[in-house]
Amino acid sequence: MGNSKENVKTKNKKAPLKGMMDNVMEQFNSAANHINLHPNIRKILSITNNEILVNFPVKMDNGDVEVFTGYRVQHNGALGPYKGGLRYHPTVDLDAARALAMWMTWKSSLAGLPYGGAKGGIKINPELYSESEIERITRRFTYALADNIGPEHDIPAPDVNTNSQTMAWIADTYMSTRPPAQRTANQHVVTGKPDGSGGLEGRDRATGFGVYLTIKFWADKNDIDLNGKKFIVQGFGNVGYWASHFLENDGAKLVGVQDAHGNIMNQDGIDVEALHTYNLENNGTVVNYPNAQPIDKSEFFSIDCDICIPAALGNQITKENAPKIKAKIIAEGANGPTNVEGEKILIERGIVIIPDILCNSGGVIGSYYEWLQNRSGEIWHLEEVMDKLTKKLKVSFDKVYSYSENEKVDMRTAAFCIAIARIEKAYVQRGIFP
Ligand code: GLU
Repeated sequence: MGNSKENVKTKNKKAPLKGMMDNVMEQFNSAANHINLHPNIRKILSITNNEILVNFPVKMDNGDVEVFTGYRVQHNGALGPYKGGLRYHPTVDLDAARALAMWMTWKSSLAGLPYGGAKGGIKINPELYSESEIERITRRFTYALADNIGPEHDIPAPDVNTNSQTMAWIADTYMSTRPPAQRTANQHVVTGKPDGSGGLEGRDRATGFGVYLTIKFWADKNDIDLNGKKFIVQGFGNVGYWASHFLENDGAKLVGVQDAHGNIMNQDGIDVEALHTYNLENNGTVVNYPNAQPIDKSEFFSIDCDICIPAALGNQITKENAPKIKAKIIAEGANGPTNVEGEKILIERGIVIIPDILCNSGGVIGSYYEWLQNRSGEIWHLEEVMDKLTKKLKVSFDKVYSYSENEKVDMRTAAFCIAIARIEKAYVQRGIFP
């Protein structure tokens, strides 16, 4: 799409995502209090290490030039290279990137990975641009980030509105702009690549599969059979679709979906694969899917169900909708979908939350396998990947579950306590330079 004045206005429209930093800091501080975190380490972890902001020009299809703003925030690198996704969305700004980078630090630490946390992206509504514009925007952003990313320094991955194609363009641009002798050995500068370009078989489903697994592990601990259980999903992108796919395989029933364009429900069940095909054929929306009824946005979280999977953006479950939620379990496929006030209400109502840094950690674990595969020149197969992922997530889940039982805290606090303690240990062992 071109560059009319009207488009520029829409593109710059500010969407509300306030308070992500408040949420992550509140979660961090309550866990830090619980483990009595050393005040010096609390100071270090309360702030980000590096914040990169780049403004870069790109030529549009009609010949006009537009200037975009991109971000990369590196929160903490005590455990290893920075790791985390890049999102293309109007809500991307420094505050959002900081909060999301912090969540990545805790997520990688909890999963036992040798990574720190980062996040970034471009403030953009990608729906307003053609594919070739998105390609040029991605390549110019990569060029602008230059040595602020790197396979042993900071490794981006897909996130909201970015995918394996985006990662392939980043890898190609990064490699093409290295000195000749370094060109081919850098494909692990990003993970989540297509499987013909150094990607990992199964990385596409890793996050959604992980969401499903954490629900299954919780159900097993509580003697609950997923067969016949009803679930709703907010966001039918990569995470929402794959989580639904695996839940449906276990006999659970999808009864409601919300995406950026509308809401649908059907208490008799929505066929996940048919909806997926419909979604792909209709420019990425479930709106007007024939075998479900449209409902108002305000009714979505009140749909009668057992499991609710927010798999879109942050700050979606709030004090306004938390009292209406019928589900008994919230599985956070998105990062930061429940704000502090919403969470208080859910906890009071006895609703279990599988926290984002555990629930959606299958994605970064898959990324770690891809990075290892690229570094060692091996090629792993789907069964092997899924098997390793299942075992690794089970270890994390069991740690969080037992910590929460033993210490009588909710699973989010438990997950944060485990994650922060691992980083604290690294600082205690190494000390602070100089
Ligand atoms: N964007 C994903 C997340 O939020 C994946 C990050 C990664 O694989 O580095 O966890």
